[in-house]
Amino acid sequence: MSEIMQLDDTYIAHTYARFPVRLVEGEGSILWDESGRRYIDLGSGIAVNTFGIADKEWQKAVTAQLGRLQHTSNLYYTGPCAHLAEMLCQRTGMKKVFFSNSGAEANECAIKAARKYAAAELGAEYSTIVTLQGSFHGRTLATLAATGQDVFHRDYQPLPKGFVYAKPGDLDQLAALLKNHRCAAVMMEVVQGEGGVNVLDKEYLQKAAALAADHGALVIVDEVQTGNGRTGRLYGYMHYGIQPDIITTAKGLGGGLPLGATLLGEKVADVFVPGDHGSTFGGNPVCCAGAISILNRLDEQMLSRVRAKGNLVRGALEGAPGVESVTGMGLMLGVKTTRPAAKVAAECLRAGVLVLTAKDKVRLLPALNIPDQQLQDGVEILKQVCARVD
Ligand SMILES: *Cc1c(COP(=O)(O)O)cnc(C)c1O
Repeated sequence: MSEIMQLDDTYIAHTYARFPVRLVEGEGSILWDESGRRYIDLGSGIAVNTFGIADKEWQKAVTAQLGRLQHTSNLYYTGPCAHLAEMLCQRTGMKKVFFSNSGAEANECAIKAARKYAAAELGAEYSTIVTLQGSFHGRTLATLAATGQDVFHRDYQPLPKGFVYAKPGDLDQLAALLKNHRCAAVMMEVVQGEGGVNVLDKEYLQKAAALAADHGALVIVDEVQTGNGRTGRLYGYMHYGIQPDIITTAKGLGGGLPLGATLLGEKVADVFVPGDHGSTFGGNPVCCAGAISILNRLDEQMLSRVRAKGNLVRGALEGAPGVESVTGMGLMLGVKTTRPAAKVAAECLRAGVLVLTAKDKVRLLPALNIPDQQLQDGVEILKQVCARVD
């Protein structure tokens, strides 16, 4: 074990099971470790490095802003966050944006907005948020409570109240929950990421959104992972023909810097007044300048390339020995392998390819601009590892 690994083991809280590798630099979708070993990156820092490592255009936007003004606090106006908010609203039809630093915070804001709105519209008892079984919404106490997986709840009782869980695909059960609880909102990921790259059925989501509206409940889509081009549309809900009341996003928005955003639709646009909510770092000009450069490039041509790259991966893996299924959309893919996913990921690393896992699947979230050749090379190695016999 290297000195850094020992230091890390000694002084960093043991919340992460790290792969036994120390990465030191990269370019695009290629990374190098301390011994100069090269890796093809099919994870992009969990869908964060939208255009890969040290992307020139993003770097230029970030460093230009860094050299001018790195932070002001939210007591003053700055250009990048205002411009970014305008871009986000224009491209989603939403009306206002609250910026924070992470996905969990973006979801906290969505929950607060929904509850405040429902209390005023329907009554203070309309506070329940319906989320889906198998969902993942973050690690703060409220977003943990929103997360529909018991394993995350176990050690942190008592969790904030007011969350109930619907079974994905079961409209009758959702209707019963909406009837039996006083609900403020229904919150969903269109593709569950951490939950195993499960794509939500189109008819289910459309009908679920309609059911929510019938009960006066808002529709929140958690696009923390699915957002910013990942699924081959700018936001994942755009595959579904629905218009959410609140959209949350983070991960890929900042292209590698921490940035969360809660997009508020017509109904909740004016729910907050000064003092209601805040974040010291939220809307940081450097993060926002980087995000503007990311969003600027996510045009239809780029999104169609993301879809094509996704199809390329599917074409290579579907039906391959040791591959049981491929789920997901665009460049957010889950590969159900015959061999244990964790073992496949560990062996891919040794063979020079970085992949992720989600539940019992290997998860692929490469940079959106990964060159086809690198993508093919990486997937070929994954394919070989999947075909091994234990
Ligand atoms: C990663 C993720 C979060 C949490 O984001 P953080 O930035 O880690 O707080 C929330 N929701 C979804 C769908 C995610 O994938």
